[in-house]
Amino acid sequence: MDLKLYDTLTREKRVFRPLDPGNVRMYVCGPTVYDFAHIGNARPVIVFDVLFRLLRHLYGADHVTYVRNITDVDEKINARAAEEYPALPLNEAIRKVTEKTDQQFHEDVAALGCLPPTAEPRATEHIAEMRALIERLVKSGNAYVAQDHVLFSVSSDPDYGELSKRPLDEMIAGARVEVAPYKREPMDFVLWKPSKTGEPAWPSLAGIKTPGRPGWHIECSAMAWRYLGETFDIHGGGIDLVFPHHENEIAQSRCAFHTPLMANFWMHNGFLQVEGEKMAKSTGNFVTPHDLLKDWPGEVVRLTMLQTHYRQPINWTVSGLREAERTLDHWYALSGDVAPGFLCTDVLDALMDDLNTPKALGALHELRGEAVKGIKPAAASLKASVQLIGLLQTTRAAWAAFRPAAVAVDETKVVDLIEARNAARQVKDFKESDRIRDELAKMGVVLKDTKDGTTWEIAR
Ligand code: AMP
Ligand code: ZN
Repeated sequence: MDLKLYDTLTREKRVFRPLDPGNVRMYVCGPTVYDFAHIGNARPVIVFDVLFRLLRHLYGADHVTYVRNITDVDEKINARAAEEYPALPLNEAIRKVTEKTDQQFHEDVAALGCLPPTAEPRATEHIAEMRALIERLVKSGNAYVAQDHVLFSVSSDPDYGELSKRPLDEMIAGARVEVAPYKREPMDFVLWKPSKTGEPAWPSLAGIKTPGRPGWHIECSAMAWRYLGETFDIHGGGIDLVFPHHENEIAQSRCAFHTPLMANFWMHNGFLQVEGEKMAKSTGNFVTPHDLLKDWPGEVVRLTMLQTHYRQPINWTVSGLREAERTLDHWYALSGDVAPGFLCTDVLDALMDDLNTPKALGALHELRGEAVKGIKPAAASLKASVQLIGLLQTTRAAWAAFRPAAVAVDETKVVDLIEARNAARQVKDFKESDRIRDELAKMGVVLKDTKDGTTWEIAR
């Protein structure tokens, strides 16, 4: 069975073969730490955690290197720091903002069941690597110095645009490119820029007097190089990063290392909307994991995310959260205390098919049906297969603290009672069918009669 992944660069689902099976290497663009992450930011973290777990399963936990950076130098951070701590020197204010945001991010993603990546490099700790890359690019004629800036010359790279496959004029519009006097061409992008007094600053390249700081794109090329080498297996992030961020990363890395590719696979998660609308602080339509985790266990939030295939857009809704909660109710009731058994091949097959989590959930649903019928290894197999996607990580007792009725219920008995009720209804014995409904209600079970049959759930 082959792992197949969709590659944005070639626009096709391809068989994944690691460059070095002894060390499978993945880089994912991490957060810019200026504000609490919103639930959209959690999507790539969860999606690539599922991939990380799958790769560890396939190649061995010690043979996968996963790097997710932290962007801790950025205009937005400077602005937020000045606004929040106007009395402090800017550097101190920046430290306060980044430390606080960074800590919150880590608490959130741990609660969402995400494993720590192998390395989490910070941009400010890799300025030397960025400068080294920029120097190479200047030397090779792919970058130039102008008015204390260093710019990448887009026309020097004949392959530029290969990832986004957009015509140049569209790219210019998409990037909202600044026409600046120091640019030779509008598409050229900043590798290094001068810092204003008080802003974070590092010694610039030879020939530039003003201390400066890196642009955004160069940081990922530099950190991927430092931790994964000149070329590696998978580069991931949200779909919004395809252009310009990843396009620019590719240009920088390929030109600096004279390699035909930076990463073998480019993977992008679709965007998340909340209740059908774009998330925006100004309209109050803004959901953070921090707030969600006050009302829902992390596993509910994680499973809600995985109910949609990672490349599709997600419409984040409370009903989606409820659905995930019900699924976890069943899983914990059936498998919470069972020792994990064999992985279900249908679940694994689905994940091997470009991380098709909705299909995997379908296979898990079948397995649940077997477990309810008392087919012996089903509950153990359910446990192992669910754990592969980073769920069912706590005990039945821990879930019971949140949903006591759900765990207490005997699912086999519920299914038997529903069958008896349906039989009573068929012969129009409504007294008996009502009695059974009441009996189920006492157990916390709410019935829903639909045209496809009767479903049930534990009341909230
Ligand atoms: P940022 O901190 O804005 O650089 O974003 C961090 C990560 O979250 C990037 O991989 C983005 O592509 C991703 N991201 C941001 N907003 C959303 C969203 N609404 N839905 C899905 N992914 C998002
Ligand atoms: Zn990046």
